[in-house]
Amino acid sequence: MNIHEYQAKDILKSYGVVVPAQKLAETPEVAVNAARQLFEETKTAVFVLKAQIHAGGRGKGGGVKIAKNVEEVYQLADQIIGMQLVTPQTGPEGKKVNKIIVSEDVYYPGASEPSEIYLSVLLDRAKGCDVIMASTEGGVDIEEVAEQTPEKIIKEWVDPKVGLQAYQARKVAFALGLEGLALKNMIKFITNIYKAYRGIDASQVEINPVLKASDDAIIAVDAKINLDDNALYRHKDFIALRDESEEDPLEVEASKSGLNYVKLDGNVGCMVNGAGLAMATMDMIKLSGGEPANFLDVGGGANAQTVEAGFRIILQDPNVKAILINIFGGIVRCDRVASGVVEAYKNIGQIDIPIIVRLQGTNAEEGAKIIEESGLRVVSAILLKDAADCVKEALV
Ligand code: GDP
Ligand code: MN
Repeated sequence: MNIHEYQAKDILKSYGVVVPAQKLAETPEVAVNAARQLFEETKTAVFVLKAQIHAGGRGKGGGVKIAKNVEEVYQLADQIIGMQLVTPQTGPEGKKVNKIIVSEDVYYPGASEPSEIYLSVLLDRAKGCDVIMASTEGGVDIEEVAEQTPEKIIKEWVDPKVGLQAYQARKVAFALGLEGLALKNMIKFITNIYKAYRGIDASQVEINPVLKASDDAIIAVDAKINLDDNALYRHKDFIALRDESEEDPLEVEASKSGLNYVKLDGNVGCMVNGAGLAMATMDMIKLSGGEPANFLDVGGGANAQTVEAGFRIILQDPNVKAILINIFGGIVRCDRVASGVVEAYKNIGQIDIPIIVRLQGTNAEEGAKIIEESGLRVVSAILLKDAADCVKEALV
């Protein structure tokens, strides 16, 4: 699960990470009030306005603006709130900005130049370890740095069984070329970021940029956190952080029905049980000349309701020209799935596209019989190859 920058910063703050003071606003008026309060609390005269959407690259798209006084806060908030923000990560249609944060500006001028650092923690699946990545070349062009000068990315692997060792945090901070108070602050910063990463069961924490301010404070200017969905049951209070308006509506509906659904661009909808079989089915659709319209795993416990929910979701995609249902009956019985298909078909009413059903495994014959006797426009195939041929026919 993805969360917003302001939510990520609240969490990190509770782990002792230094973040700029921030307030949330959904209108320019509230933004102005927020700025006045920030002035009271921090004496900042310069404010930063940042669009809160689930995508990075906001700076490049005009979603991060600096206001030098309260009047500018109003004007800039008015520009950003409600805009369709297009960034390198949103796709060409962009994302609507519903809220912004107003923050104190922490790039205050001082004796030495502030510098932007990159820091992230994630899982290195190949090594079975967490990895801390850091670079002195933080800021908006880190993707280019990683691609063109990968030697500028420092990596430190952490064995999750023993956790982050003090020498490792020191090693990364030294490698960033820091000294004195900045070095000390960075060691604390890295230690706290790693603590947060483990404590909240994140799959990724990325801070870009981390600012070394002119007074040697080390501050998280941006924050991106991905939470591991499989661990959300351990963090019931995080469920409230979910912002469904940022997610694909069909994917939200699917997850409510316990379906694992990813929308794709093709013309053959597929409903399968098990991720592996779903992948194989998508390959088969391609071999038969079609393109999968989605990935949909109805899970091991598929029943009439999940089948119907899956049908409804697939049918909402106007590109779908045929539906292939490929179920292997193990714990789930094929006759139940077949009844589910027949029932869903009747409940939904007019379905104008061909439906090809392949049921194999437990009670496959009973399932095929139910479909044949239903008199509906459902084609039953036994072999995978037959199913592929049916898809091919359906598309001509
Ligand atoms: P992103 O573009 O979505 O990654 O958003 P960021 O939060 O990383 O902001 C983009 C850029 O805006 C940063 O790299 C900074 O250069 C600049 N920026 C962000 N916050 C501040 C701030 O408080 N003060 C100043 N002066 N610049 C900031
Ligand atoms: Mn950033």
